[in-house]
Amino acid sequence: MPNSSNYNSYVQRDAAAIWHPFTQHQIEPFSIPITRGEGCWLYGANGDKYLDAISSWWVNIHGHGHPYLAKKVYEQALKIEQVIFAGFTHEPAIRLSERLLSHLPKHFHKVFFSDNGSTAVEVAIKMALQFYYNQGHTKKRKILALQDAYHGDTFGAMSLGAPSSFNAPFQDMLFEVEFISQPGNPEACLQDMKNKLEAEPDVYAAFIFEPLVQGAGGMLMYEPSTLDALIQLAHEHAILCIADEIMTGFGRTGKWFAMDYLSHKPDIVCLSKGLTGGMMAMGVTCCSNDIFHSFLSEDRKKTLFHSHSFTANPLACAAANASLDIMEKEETWSNIQRVSDHHEKWVASKKGHPIIQNVRQRGTILALDLHTGESTGYMHPLRDRAYQYFIKKGVLLRPLGNTLYILAPYCIQNEELDLIYKSIEEFAEELKPIC
Ligand SMILES: *Cc1c(COP(=O)(O)O)cnc(C)c1O
Repeated sequence: MPNSSNYNSYVQRDAAAIWHPFTQHQIEPFSIPITRGEGCWLYGANGDKYLDAISSWWVNIHGHGHPYLAKKVYEQALKIEQVIFAGFTHEPAIRLSERLLSHLPKHFHKVFFSDNGSTAVEVAIKMALQFYYNQGHTKKRKILALQDAYHGDTFGAMSLGAPSSFNAPFQDMLFEVEFISQPGNPEACLQDMKNKLEAEPDVYAAFIFEPLVQGAGGMLMYEPSTLDALIQLAHEHAILCIADEIMTGFGRTGKWFAMDYLSHKPDIVCLSKGLTGGMMAMGVTCCSNDIFHSFLSEDRKKTLFHSHSFTANPLACAAANASLDIMEKEETWSNIQRVSDHHEKWVASKKGHPIIQNVRQRGTILALDLHTGESTGYMHPLRDRAYQYFIKKGVLLRPLGNTLYILAPYCIQNEELDLIYKSIEEFAEELKPIC
């Protein structure tokens, strides 16, 4: 056990020097120091351990401290750690691109690298808008998105997200996006899109969506048939479809990509989060040759002028290639199946529960709403209480308002899942008196 004054100074130094993401420091001044991770567990500097039920914000699909990922990044670091990606290239990026394309539908031909999920979305939007711009379609400037969408925290990505308390301070500076009503109600949603396209048939360049599961918006789930109909309608109006698979990619929904459940495929896909197995920050935006060719010209002004310092960083590419090695293993897919099956059994056992309601699942993602008679939403007062409750129990769950979800590394064992279920059931038990 480390000495507690050391531990306290650790926490104090952090609080003195660091501004944390998505953190109201007045309410949550202290962060938990973590020194080590292994599999689904995070180990704290004070000797506590935490079961990472959310894959550390949805990225560590193979768990923490994976020796194979570490080895591959180390080996790459000894060769070339970083090289400018305009005018230069390297084997890890080429290999990764070929492999990603081999797992995507056949009409995807090109991979564009960036740094994270938000940048992958920014690139997708630029691709779609400039696709029409380069061809002289001056009217196609607007974008369609879904209600309750989340696409990241940069300005373009915020514009595509549903208006919320996250982006309220900037709302007047965001570009205009038309939001289609919740796909959980297929008829209303489809009709809404039809109405918008009828009102303004030629103004939309792109339709962006999180396929099948809207993550940060509350783990809202909807059916492939709904998305198929929306994509078909968009395509009939020459609107490019952008799948934001930043959360759903790499086995999360039970298939390689959520779009694998669809018969109508998107034109552009954004990937990040699970891409490197949580080892390094990286995003990619993949598109068809149709889109790529619209940027080809003797005229340099038709170039896609987008780059980040660390574009296609070789260490991140090596991590992604190593993560794909693991993804391509049979064992990983049997784990994905096992986690999905285990979730399914628990979901069935919760039918008619007074507090644990609206239990839903897609592959390895499980979500539920805690019903307390109060309204829902990210700022729900239950959120902080639930978060602290689970942390004290040694389970890292980050509720979205009154919505709890499990999005664990695929290597999580059934006993560890049971531990999470049990802690949720116990919390629900505590809530009973206030209902
Ligand atoms: C997390 C996420 C993003 C943003 O990715 P960052 O790497 O956090 O910028 C975008 N879209 C979806 C669906 C996400 O889950």
